Amino acid sequence: MKKYDVVTTISYPKKGAMGKTGSWRVFKPILDKEKCVKCLRCWIYCPEGTIIRNKDDTVDIDYEYCKGCGICANVCKVKAITMERETKGK
Ligand code: SF4
Ligand code: SF4
Repeated sequence: MKKYDVVTTISYPKKGAMGKTGSWRVFKPILDKEKCVKCLRCWIYCPEGTIIRNKDDTVDIDYEYCKGCGICANVCKVKAITMERETKGK
């Protein structure tokens, strides 16, 4: 039986893999730091890697690359992130 090398490809979310967010972002996540319990679910699930994890496990959002998909808001159990319509330039 012929043997083949096993090649595994692992992809990681990469900031800016699709470039900076343009004027097309419709919604943006708004973080309420008072509600945040530092569970880091948003940091784990953000497909763009644009949730910034700080040394004390607080989080921030990098709006340069955030695509506004809303996953972070969906996975946040304490509703510390809400999605608001983007108004910049409109
Ligand atoms: S809206 Fe999407 S891209 Fe932006 S921070 Fe949340 S999960 Fe990441
Ligand atoms: S998922 Fe919500 S509570 Fe958890 S770190 Fe993110 S903003 Fe904070």
